[in-house]
Amino acid sequence: MKIVKTIDEVRDAVKELQREGKTVGFVPTMGALHGGHLSLFRRARKHADVVLVSIYVNPEQFGPNEDFSSYPRTLERDLAFCEQEEVGIVFTPDDEIMYGSGKKYLSIEIDELNTYLDGGSRPGYFQGIALVVNKLFNIVQPDVAVFGQKDYQQFQIIHQMVKEFNHDLELIMAPIERAEDGLALSSRNAYLSEVERALAPEMFQRMKEAVNDIQNGLLEPEEMLKQHQKALAEKGFKNDYLGVFSLEKMAPVQTLEKGKRYLLAGAVYLGKTRLIDNIIFES
Ligand code: AMP
Repeated sequence: MKIVKTIDEVRDAVKELQREGKTVGFVPTMGALHGGHLSLFRRARKHADVVLVSIYVNPEQFGPNEDFSSYPRTLERDLAFCEQEEVGIVFTPDDEIMYGSGKKYLSIEIDELNTYLDGGSRPGYFQGIALVVNKLFNIVQPDVAVFGQKDYQQFQIIHQMVKEFNHDLELIMAPIERAEDGLALSSRNAYLSEVERALAPEMFQRMKEAVNDIQNGLLEPEEMLKQHQKALAEKGFKNDYLGVFSLEKMAPVQTLEKGKRYLLAGAVYLGKTRLIDNIIFES
Protein backbone atom coordinates (compact mmCIF):
# COMPACT_ATOMS: atom_id res chain seq x y z
CA MET A 1 0.00 0.00 0.00
CA LYS A 2 1.37 3.41 -1.00
CA ILE A 3 0.76 6.36 1.33
CA VAL A 4 1.15 9.67 -0.52
CA LYS A 5 0.75 13.22 0.61
CA THR A 6 1.39 15.56 -2.29
CA ILE A 7 -0.50 16.08 -5.51
CA ASP A 8 2.53 15.11 -7.60
CA GLU A 9 2.93 11.88 -5.66
CA VAL A 10 -0.69 10.84 -6.05
CA ARG A 11 -0.69 11.74 -9.74
CA ASP A 12 2.51 9.78 -10.35
CA ALA A 13 1.03 6.77 -8.57
CA VAL A 14 -2.18 6.96 -10.62
CA LYS A 15 -0.27 7.44 -13.90
CA GLU A 16 1.85 4.40 -13.15
CA LEU A 17 -1.30 2.32 -12.69
CA GLN A 18 -2.80 3.69 -15.88
CA ARG A 19 0.37 2.79 -17.79
CA GLU A 20 -0.16 -0.76 -16.56
CA GLY A 21 -3.70 -0.59 -17.93
CA LYS A 22 -5.29 -0.59 -14.45
CA THR A 23 -8.40 1.32 -13.47
CA VAL A 24 -8.71 3.35 -10.26
CA GLY A 25 -11.68 3.32 -7.88
CA PHE A 26 -11.69 6.36 -5.61
CA VAL A 27 -13.29 6.70 -2.16
CA PRO A 28 -12.97 10.15 -0.56
CA THR A 29 -13.26 10.08 3.25
CA MET A 30 -12.61 12.23 6.29
CA GLY A 31 -10.98 9.30 8.10
CA ALA A 32 -12.17 7.88 11.46
CA LEU A 33 -12.94 4.89 9.31
CA HIS A 34 -15.70 2.42 10.18
CA GLY A 35 -17.55 -0.44 8.53
CA GLY A 36 -19.45 1.97 6.26
CA HIS A 37 -16.21 3.21 4.71
CA LEU A 38 -14.88 -0.33 4.40
CA SER A 39 -18.00 -1.33 2.47
CA LEU A 40 -17.24 1.49 0.01
CA PHE A 41 -13.67 0.23 -0.41
CA ARG A 42 -15.00 -3.26 -1.21
CA ARG A 43 -17.52 -1.80 -3.62
CA ALA A 44 -14.78 0.23 -5.34
CA ARG A 45 -12.68 -2.90 -5.71
CA LYS A 46 -15.53 -4.63 -7.52
CA HIS A 47 -15.59 -1.84 -10.12
CA ALA A 48 -11.88 -1.04 -10.48
CA ASP A 49 -8.47 -2.73 -10.31
CA VAL A 50 -7.00 -0.56 -7.57
CA VAL A 51 -8.70 1.30 -4.71
CA LEU A 52 -7.49 4.80 -3.86
CA VAL A 53 -8.71 6.31 -0.58
CA SER A 54 -8.27 9.91 0.48
CA ILE A 55 -8.27 10.84 4.15
CA TYR A 56 -8.75 14.55 4.70
CA VAL A 57 -10.88 16.41 7.23
CA ASN A 58 -12.06 19.19 4.94
CA PRO A 59 -12.36 22.47 6.91
CA GLU A 60 -14.52 23.98 4.17
CA GLN A 61 -17.49 21.75 4.94
CA PHE A 62 -17.72 22.63 8.64
CA GLY A 63 -19.75 25.62 9.85
CA PRO A 64 -18.26 28.01 12.44
CA ASN A 65 -20.09 26.27 15.30
CA GLU A 66 -19.55 22.75 14.08
CA ASP A 67 -17.12 20.07 15.19
CA PHE A 68 -14.10 20.65 12.92
CA SER A 69 -11.56 20.81 15.75
CA SER A 70 -13.00 17.86 17.68
CA TYR A 71 -13.72 15.68 14.61
CA PRO A 72 -12.08 12.28 15.32
CA ARG A 73 -8.64 11.92 13.73
CA THR A 74 -7.38 8.35 13.88
CA LEU A 75 -4.83 8.13 11.07
CA GLU A 76 -2.78 5.19 12.36
CA ARG A 77 -5.88 3.10 12.83
CA ASP A 78 -7.30 4.23 9.48
CA LEU A 79 -4.12 3.18 7.67
CA ALA A 80 -4.28 -0.24 9.32
CA PHE A 81 -7.89 -0.61 8.08
CA CYS A 82 -6.82 0.41 4.57
CA GLU A 83 -3.97 -2.09 4.61
CA GLN A 84 -6.31 -4.83 5.79
CA GLU A 85 -8.79 -3.98 3.01
CA GLU A 86 -6.03 -4.10 0.38
CA VAL A 87 -6.36 -0.45 -0.53
CA GLY A 88 -3.64 0.33 -3.10
CA ILE A 89 -3.04 4.03 -2.45
CA VAL A 90 -3.93 6.31 0.48
CA PHE A 91 -3.82 10.04 -0.20
CA THR A 92 -3.45 12.15 2.95
CA PRO A 93 -3.12 15.78 1.87
CA ASP A 94 -3.04 18.68 4.34
CA ASP A 95 -4.67 22.12 4.24
CA GLU A 96 -1.64 23.70 2.56
CA ILE A 97 -1.85 21.17 -0.26
CA MET A 98 -5.61 21.44 -0.70
CA TYR A 99 -6.12 25.16 -0.13
CA GLY A 100 -2.61 26.65 -0.08
CA SER A 101 -3.49 29.27 -2.69
CA GLY A 102 -6.19 30.66 -0.41
CA LYS A 103 -8.66 30.66 -3.29
CA LYS A 104 -11.66 28.63 -2.34
CA TYR A 105 -14.26 29.65 -4.85
CA LEU A 106 -16.43 27.31 -6.80
CA SER A 107 -19.51 28.34 -8.66
CA ILE A 108 -21.95 25.55 -9.22
CA GLU A 109 -25.70 25.48 -9.63
CA ILE A 110 -26.69 23.33 -6.70
CA ASP A 111 -29.30 25.68 -5.27
CA GLU A 112 -32.28 23.52 -6.08
CA LEU A 113 -30.70 20.38 -4.61
CA ASN A 114 -29.29 22.30 -1.66
CA THR A 115 -32.46 23.88 -0.25
CA TYR A 116 -33.74 21.18 2.06
CA LEU A 117 -32.37 18.43 4.32
CA ASP A 118 -28.74 19.07 5.33
CA GLY A 119 -28.43 21.72 2.62
CA GLY A 120 -31.09 23.75 4.47
CA SER A 121 -29.72 23.09 7.95
CA ARG A 122 -26.01 23.51 7.32
CA PRO A 123 -25.26 26.64 5.26
CA GLY A 124 -22.13 26.21 3.16
CA TYR A 125 -21.86 22.50 3.91
CA PHE A 126 -22.44 21.16 0.40
CA GLN A 127 -20.52 24.02 -1.23
CA GLY A 128 -17.57 22.88 0.91
CA ILE A 129 -18.08 19.28 -0.14
CA ALA A 130 -18.51 20.09 -3.83
CA LEU A 131 -15.36 22.22 -3.66
CA VAL A 132 -13.15 19.55 -2.10
CA VAL A 133 -14.54 16.66 -4.15
CA ASN A 134 -14.15 18.66 -7.35
CA LYS A 135 -10.50 19.31 -6.46
CA LEU A 136 -9.95 15.69 -5.46
CA PHE A 137 -11.46 14.46 -8.75
CA ASN A 138 -9.10 16.77 -10.66
CA ILE A 139 -6.13 15.54 -8.67
CA VAL A 140 -6.88 11.82 -8.78
CA GLN A 141 -8.82 11.55 -12.06
CA PRO A 142 -10.29 8.18 -11.11
CA ASP A 143 -12.28 5.87 -13.35
CA VAL A 144 -14.87 5.24 -10.65
CA ALA A 145 -15.80 7.03 -7.40
CA VAL A 146 -17.89 5.50 -4.64
CA PHE A 147 -20.07 7.39 -2.13
CA GLY A 148 -22.51 6.18 0.52
CA GLN A 149 -26.29 6.38 0.43
CA LYS A 150 -25.99 7.50 4.05
CA ASP A 151 -25.31 10.96 2.55
CA TYR A 152 -27.90 10.70 -0.20
CA GLN A 153 -28.16 14.45 -0.81
CA GLN A 154 -24.36 14.62 -1.07
CA PHE A 155 -24.50 11.95 -3.77
CA GLN A 156 -27.06 13.94 -5.79
CA ILE A 157 -25.03 17.14 -5.48
CA ILE A 158 -21.81 15.39 -6.51
CA HIS A 159 -23.69 13.83 -9.40
CA GLN A 160 -24.71 17.32 -10.51
CA MET A 161 -21.17 18.65 -10.00
CA VAL A 162 -19.74 15.81 -12.13
CA LYS A 163 -22.18 16.72 -14.92
CA GLU A 164 -21.47 20.45 -14.74
CA PHE A 165 -17.70 20.10 -14.55
CA ASN A 166 -17.59 17.28 -17.10
CA HIS A 167 -15.64 14.83 -14.99
CA ASP A 168 -14.97 11.63 -16.87
CA LEU A 169 -15.80 9.06 -14.23
CA GLU A 170 -18.53 6.70 -13.07
CA LEU A 171 -20.27 7.49 -9.78
CA ILE A 172 -21.47 4.62 -7.65
CA MET A 173 -23.70 4.75 -4.58
CA ALA A 174 -23.19 2.09 -1.91
CA PRO A 175 -25.92 1.10 0.59
CA ILE A 176 -25.94 2.20 4.25
CA GLU A 177 -23.98 -0.01 6.65
CA ARG A 178 -25.62 -0.36 10.04
CA ALA A 179 -24.75 -1.68 13.48
CA GLU A 180 -26.70 -4.78 14.55
CA ASP A 181 -29.27 -2.63 16.33
CA GLY A 182 -29.91 -0.63 13.14
CA LEU A 183 -27.93 2.54 13.89
CA ALA A 184 -26.24 3.78 10.71
CA LEU A 185 -22.46 3.64 11.15
CA SER A 186 -20.88 7.09 11.36
CA SER A 187 -17.58 8.59 12.47
CA ARG A 188 -19.62 10.88 14.72
CA ASN A 189 -21.11 7.92 16.64
CA ALA A 190 -17.82 8.04 18.58
CA TYR A 191 -19.18 11.18 20.33
CA LEU A 192 -22.18 9.33 21.80
CA SER A 193 -22.19 8.53 25.53
CA GLU A 194 -23.19 4.99 26.54
CA VAL A 195 -26.74 6.13 27.32
CA GLU A 196 -27.04 8.05 24.03
CA ARG A 197 -25.65 5.12 22.06
CA ALA A 198 -28.32 2.86 23.56
CA LEU A 199 -31.02 5.33 22.58
CA ALA A 200 -29.72 6.18 19.11
CA PRO A 201 -31.24 3.23 17.14
CA GLU A 202 -34.72 4.54 18.04
CA MET A 203 -34.42 7.01 15.16
CA PHE A 204 -34.09 4.28 12.52
CA GLN A 205 -36.85 2.26 14.24
CA ARG A 206 -39.20 5.23 13.91
CA MET A 207 -38.19 5.75 10.29
CA LYS A 208 -38.91 2.11 9.47
CA GLU A 209 -42.33 2.42 11.13
CA ALA A 210 -43.01 5.54 9.07
CA VAL A 211 -42.16 3.71 5.84
CA ASN A 212 -44.44 0.86 6.94
CA ASP A 213 -47.32 3.27 7.50
CA ILE A 214 -46.82 4.76 4.04
CA GLN A 215 -46.61 1.35 2.41
CA ASN A 216 -49.83 0.41 4.15
CA GLY A 217 -51.60 3.18 2.28
CA LEU A 218 -50.91 6.42 4.16
CA LEU A 219 -50.12 8.76 1.28
CA GLU A 220 -50.19 12.04 3.23
CA PRO A 221 -47.64 11.29 5.91
CA GLU A 222 -47.02 14.74 7.40
CA GLU A 223 -49.05 14.26 10.59
CA MET A 224 -47.65 10.76 11.16
CA LEU A 225 -44.06 12.06 10.80
CA LYS A 226 -44.83 14.81 13.33
CA GLN A 227 -45.98 12.14 15.79
CA HIS A 228 -42.70 10.26 15.35
CA GLN A 229 -40.73 13.47 15.88
CA LYS A 230 -42.74 14.17 19.02
CA ALA A 231 -42.03 10.68 20.35
CA LEU A 232 -38.31 11.10 19.59
CA ALA A 233 -38.30 14.49 21.36
CA GLU A 234 -39.88 12.91 24.42
CA LYS A 235 -37.00 10.43 24.53
CA GLY A 236 -34.42 13.22 24.44
CA PHE A 237 -33.70 13.63 20.73
CA LYS A 238 -33.62 17.15 19.34
CA ASN A 239 -35.26 17.05 15.92
CA ASP A 240 -33.83 18.86 12.94
CA TYR A 241 -35.91 17.42 10.09
CA LEU A 242 -37.84 14.30 9.20
CA GLY A 243 -39.62 14.14 5.88
CA VAL A 244 -40.30 12.52 2.55
CA PHE A 245 -38.32 13.93 -0.38
CA SER A 246 -38.18 13.35 -4.12
CA LEU A 247 -35.20 11.21 -5.10
CA GLU A 248 -33.87 13.50 -7.84
CA LYS A 249 -34.79 17.04 -6.80
CA MET A 250 -34.44 16.62 -3.05
CA ALA A 251 -37.69 18.56 -2.57
CA PRO A 252 -40.28 17.77 0.13
CA VAL A 253 -43.29 15.77 -1.03
CA GLN A 254 -46.61 16.17 0.77
CA THR A 255 -48.81 13.80 -1.19
CA LEU A 256 -47.24 10.58 -2.38
CA GLU A 257 -48.10 8.65 -5.51
CA LYS A 258 -48.66 4.95 -5.07
CA GLY A 259 -45.86 2.85 -6.57
CA LYS A 260 -43.32 5.70 -6.78
CA ARG A 261 -39.93 5.72 -5.07
CA TYR A 262 -39.05 8.37 -2.48
CA LEU A 263 -36.49 9.20 0.17
CA LEU A 264 -37.45 9.30 3.84
CA ALA A 265 -34.67 11.32 5.47
CA GLY A 266 -34.10 12.55 8.99
CA ALA A 267 -31.59 14.42 11.10
CA VAL A 268 -31.55 14.68 14.89
CA TYR A 269 -29.20 15.71 17.65
CA LEU A 270 -28.57 13.40 20.55
CA GLY A 271 -26.73 15.56 23.05
CA LYS A 272 -24.16 17.29 20.85
CA THR A 273 -24.04 14.56 18.23
CA ARG A 274 -25.79 15.06 14.93
CA LEU A 275 -27.20 11.85 13.45
CA ILE A 276 -28.58 11.51 9.94
CA ASP A 277 -30.27 8.57 8.30
CA ASN A 278 -32.47 7.76 5.34
CA ILE A 279 -34.47 5.02 3.65
CA ILE A 280 -35.28 4.78 -0.06
CA PHE A 281 -38.71 3.19 -0.38
CA GLU A 282 -41.56 2.57 -2.77
CA SER A 283 -44.90 3.97 -1.61
P1 AMP B 1 -17.05 10.73 5.61
O1 AMP B 1 -15.74 10.16 6.02
O2 AMP B 1 -18.04 10.82 6.73
O3 AMP B 1 -16.93 11.99 4.80
O4 AMP B 1 -17.71 9.64 4.63
C1 AMP B 1 -17.02 9.15 3.51
C2 AMP B 1 -17.94 8.31 2.69
O5 AMP B 1 -18.43 7.21 3.47
C3 AMP B 1 -19.19 9.05 2.18
O6 AMP B 1 -19.43 8.67 0.84
C4 AMP B 1 -20.28 8.55 3.10
O7 AMP B 1 -21.57 8.58 2.50
C5 AMP B 1 -19.84 7.12 3.33
N1 AMP B 1 -20.45 6.56 4.54
C6 AMP B 1 -20.48 7.10 5.76
N2 AMP B 1 -21.20 6.33 6.61
C7 AMP B 1 -21.62 5.27 5.90
C8 AMP B 1 -22.43 4.12 6.20
N3 AMP B 1 -22.91 3.88 7.42
N4 AMP B 1 -22.67 3.22 5.20
C9 AMP B 1 -22.17 3.44 3.94
N5 AMP B 1 -21.42 4.50 3.60
C10 AMP B 1 -21.15 5.41 4.56
